Amino acid sequence: MIEGEVKYCPRCGTALTLKLQYSRERPTCPACHWIYFPDPKVAVAVLVEEKGKVLLVRRAMAPERGRWTLPAGFLDAGEDPIQAAERECLEETGLNVKVSNLLDVIYGQEHPRGAHILIVYRANIISGTLSPGDDVDRAAFFSPNALPTLAFESTNRILLPAK
Ligand SMILES: [Zn+2]
Repeated sequence: MIEGEVKYCPRCGTALTLKLQYSRERPTCPACHWIYFPDPKVAVAVLVEEKGKVLLVRRAMAPERGRWTLPAGFLDAGEDPIQAAERECLEETGLNVKVSNLLDVIYGQEHPRGAHILIVYRANIISGTLSPGDDVDRAAFFSPNALPTLAFESTNRILLPAK
């Protein structure tokens, strides 16, 4: 659950108390009446294929460190998810890509710091040289029948049904 994360009112600093608001008990500020409505965390990912191979990155951080996944990252507030997907791909792989279409929207948080909703786009390479960055230590293309060890259910769902 997300509710435990906020203990004090971000507007006035008063300790929040649980109060029935809009059909649920929600952390509420007794002083200024601010109500905490938790928002889902949204991540974006890209599936980039070239010459029959798929672009993957190896995670340099926990969880799932050392396993491979699609270039991906969190959506910032106020950011267009398409631009976020292209930005994350550039940061993690050094490749400039352009999103072509929506591939899937996956609901379900896989670990406590993970996203609740993952938006997956297909994208094509525009320019750039493969070079890992950000929170990945390798970036490479793989044949669908010779995939490395994958991180996350969502990565499996995107990559394994097709082949
Ligand atoms: Zn307050």
